[in-house]
Amino acid sequence: FISLISLIGLIRGNNPFSKGKFIKEIFMKYGIISDIHSNLEALKVVLEELKDVDKIICLGDIVGYGPLPNECIAEIRKLREAKIVVGNHDLASIGWKDISWFNEYAQRAIIWTMDALTDESRKYLFSLPEIIEKKDFVMVHGSLNDYTDEYITGLKKASKSFKLLEERNLLLVGHTHSPRLFLKKKHQPIYSIKLMDKDIVKISDESQFIVNVGAVGQPRDKDPRASFGIFDTEAQEIKICRVPYDIKKTQELMRNGNFSKLLIERLVYGY
Ligand code: ZN
Repeated sequence: FISLISLIGLIRGNNPFSKGKFIKEIFMKYGIISDIHSNLEALKVVLEELKDVDKIICLGDIVGYGPLPNECIAEIRKLREAKIVVGNHDLASIGWKDISWFNEYAQRAIIWTMDALTDESRKYLFSLPEIIEKKDFVMVHGSLNDYTDEYITGLKKASKSFKLLEERNLLLVGHTHSPRLFLKKKHQPIYSIKLMDKDIVKISDESQFIVNVGAVGQPRDKDPRASFGIFDTEAQEIKICRVPYDIKKTQELMRNGNFSKLLIERLVYGY
């Protein structure tokens, strides 16, 4: 009798559909990163902070602006089962975008990146989708109105994406390099707020959310620390995190690569 109970216990313990493991498969802890922009120093520090999450969500612009595009792509490719969409700089750097739309500093960096990318890196960027839709969220670099290029900076742009989100409640975006939340409750005007270090966004079914966790490699909200998020689907919370990295090292590599002074200096100010 005793051995029978222990046998049942053993079977349950090994059954992948036993309660504990089943719950673990439904609920996930995602690390959310975006706009790495070839800044390996920042990326390495952020991935170290995220070493205990189940999966990484990357919202695009792995390359552009910074000195180590191939190395950043290699780091991203090491991430198992990561969800990754392509950004405007990624596409421009493989010749899939008219670069006359970019400012001159971005253009120069894109041309530099085009030269620097290996065939393997180019193929990888080409393979990335523009949108990924999951049960818990939808993810794009820009907006649902224009997956790679539109910046959701204000209520008008947010409103368009909320409509396109239809019955779903969470859209993850990057592109602006500034952490921000847009919230839409039924029959109420859209609410928007800047997100800071340690802020927690509570996701609920009654409202729709657009969350931008900011940039890993080139923050523009006057905080130079690398920005990222942690999405706990069980608690239904997204936490904003900031972490310092070796800015001087990235700047030194940029100086060696003849990057424009403005791109080098902006990293210190976070704009
Ligand atoms: Zn970007």
